[in-house]
Amino acid sequence: METLGVNAKVSANDCKSENISRKRKIAEHRKSLPVASVEHLLIQEVHRNDTLVIVGETGSGKTTQIPQFLFNAGFCRDGKAIGVTQPRRVAAVTVAKRVSEECGVEVGQKVGYSIRFEDVTSSSTRIKYMTDGLLLREALLDPFLSRYSVIIVDEAHERTVNTDVLLGFLKKVQKTRSRSLNDSLNDSLNAENMHANGLVVENGNNGKYASSLRQYRGRKLPPLKLIIMSASLDARLFSEYFGGARALRVQGRQHPVAIFYTRKHVSDYLEATLITIFQIHLEESPGDILAFLTGQEEIESIENLAKDKIQKLPESKQNIVVIPIYSALPSEQQLRVFAPTPPGVRKVILATNIAETSVTIPGIKYVIDPGFVKARTYDPNKGMESLIVFPTSKAQALQRSGRAGREGPGKCFRQYPEDMFYKLEDSTKPEIKRCNLSNVILQLKALGVDNIMEFDFLEEPPRQAIFKSLEQLILLGAVAHDGKLSNPVGHLMARIPLDPIYSKALIVAGQFNCLEEMLITVSMLSVESIFYHPREKLEEARAKMKCFSSLEGDHLTLINVYRSAEEFLNKKKLELSKEKVEKSLKKWCKENFINSRSLRHARDVHSQIREHVEQMNLPLHSCGDDTIQFCRCLAASFFLNVATKQPDGTYRDCASGEVVQIHPSSVLFRKKPDCVIFNEFVQTNHKYIRNITRIDRLWLSELAPHYYALQN
Ligand code: ADP
Ligand code: MG
Repeated sequence: METLGVNAKVSANDCKSENISRKRKIAEHRKSLPVASVEHLLIQEVHRNDTLVIVGETGSGKTTQIPQFLFNAGFCRDGKAIGVTQPRRVAAVTVAKRVSEECGVEVGQKVGYSIRFEDVTSSSTRIKYMTDGLLLREALLDPFLSRYSVIIVDEAHERTVNTDVLLGFLKKVQKTRSRSLNDSLNDSLNAENMHANGLVVENGNNGKYASSLRQYRGRKLPPLKLIIMSASLDARLFSEYFGGARALRVQGRQHPVAIFYTRKHVSDYLEATLITIFQIHLEESPGDILAFLTGQEEIESIENLAKDKIQKLPESKQNIVVIPIYSALPSEQQLRVFAPTPPGVRKVILATNIAETSVTIPGIKYVIDPGFVKARTYDPNKGMESLIVFPTSKAQALQRSGRAGREGPGKCFRQYPEDMFYKLEDSTKPEIKRCNLSNVILQLKALGVDNIMEFDFLEEPPRQAIFKSLEQLILLGAVAHDGKLSNPVGHLMARIPLDPIYSKALIVAGQFNCLEEMLITVSMLSVESIFYHPREKLEEARAKMKCFSSLEGDHLTLINVYRSAEEFLNKKKLELSKEKVEKSLKKWCKENFINSRSLRHARDVHSQIREHVEQMNLPLHSCGDDTIQFCRCLAASFFLNVATKQPDGTYRDCASGEVVQIHPSSVLFRKKPDCVIFNEFVQTNHKYIRNITRIDRLWLSELAPHYYALQN
């Protein structure tokens, strides 16, 4: 791998002078970044090579600068755009906003972003940040990605399942675009013939892929330039996958970081993190703190505990602010981590592993690393996927500690003893090897890849996982027995940007006349916990929750919350200004122990999916007070997740035979009905099911006969 030399100056005085305008500060900051001095070299390499792998330390300016270099070098002539994919929504949003500012334009104009449920682009957008999953969806309508001259796959080392699939797909597109388009088109259309015919004849609406292909007839497309960017050193894998693509390394800067371990094993890493935050604040020199937690719930609990603790500090020590950042946070709040604090005030950033490499936050001098990360696992034999808190890998631990040494020497406090570090796995297993593949398979089939086994994966997923996921899609009616996407159900499902099981639920709900209720349900299920139960006010919170709870279970309870909030809002809208309405909703949430951020996110998701549902002409009816109708619909939708009570009060998951318990957060925790459907499997010390509704067992053979008739 070739190293590009850089003599970047660390301009510590950059932001000091208050007279310098923000614009000038930004320009200076940009010039000081390691990538700045290799702009011309990089552009030369892009001209010479169709595929490049670029590796560079976090913070060297890859994500924010390289797309601008390409733009300036004329890669957007003829109205073409530069697409930059990110594994995380947060990164796509914050980076797009930053780059717009650097370019002096409004976000959504020349620079924009597009993530699931939020599209901030326009016809003038030339640099477009998006999630990798979103680009895959775009490909359904534009299979050769004809809008783009360059695609940058950023953070490829993260190896999310979408990144892996996208790389395979881009490899195919790149090959096609470099051949004469008409030849490839004929091949593709021939191969797609059955598919296309089936679609066009049976349902004009669904011929998306085939008609998408036909739009290219007689058109010429330039070759697609691909740039794979990564923060870690493993360029070889990507380079080999793209036939020995050229790999470049941008020399970054890294100051020494002192690593501290605990003497003994820590039993409660949250408590340890909280203590460490205040030790640093009271004993160490100025500098911001970055603590890595595993998810929104942990972050919010530490945020609240820390805020309480700050109140109790002597006034002279209260110069510390706590700022959270995680994916589900509304986007304007995500940007708070970048806002400079007043002089003398220390910032504590509580982040999920998005701050490992995706989002580069300036000013960090101290890192607290409890050593855990929340990640997906999938047991293909049982067909069960769950989110589990795992120890990080060595590579992740190193990335995290590196975050402390970007601007000067730093310190990293690992919340575990040193010998633990050496026991960690070297690197994280790619997600494609540990997740349910049904979503990926559905997407690939919609993109015309019928035989998943033949798809050119960067690393093959386990066969057993492919079979199990395919089986799930067949049971959901998305894939026909010949392995092709079914019509219309499979095609409709592929268009809804949700997990296949939720997309199917919306279609089923259309038939049960309760789509309105199901739309609320899937929106509420798409966000992290709606209820907020602080340890110190548990009883009060539970009492409030009772006001919303439904005897049938959590799904109707969630609907009750959503509708109560809507009702409250509608009333307030008549009395108050828009800003005040938001504020009063927040207050309402607080009084009811509801997580206002989650609720807001759910409302956004709701309005987006509603659009999809309307476009697809699904009948948006409500079943009114007929809760049985809705519960039957839940059974018909989630028949793959049924658990029955055993004599000892535990439950047995019908599909896997696994013994599980009802999660304490469920409204059915104490009621223990005989038979339930559930939406989530959670594994901590126990195996739990969450988001549960009671059903009548007899419904199953009627509502899902293809699955239950045999069992009975
Ligand atoms: P890389 O992709 O190589 O990790 P980035 O291009 O993301 O680097 O970041 C380059 C620099 O820009 C970093 O110093 C980072 O702190 C700064 N930066 C990025 N986003 C923002 C933002 N929204 N506000 C302020 N500074 C930012
Ligand atoms: Mg980056």
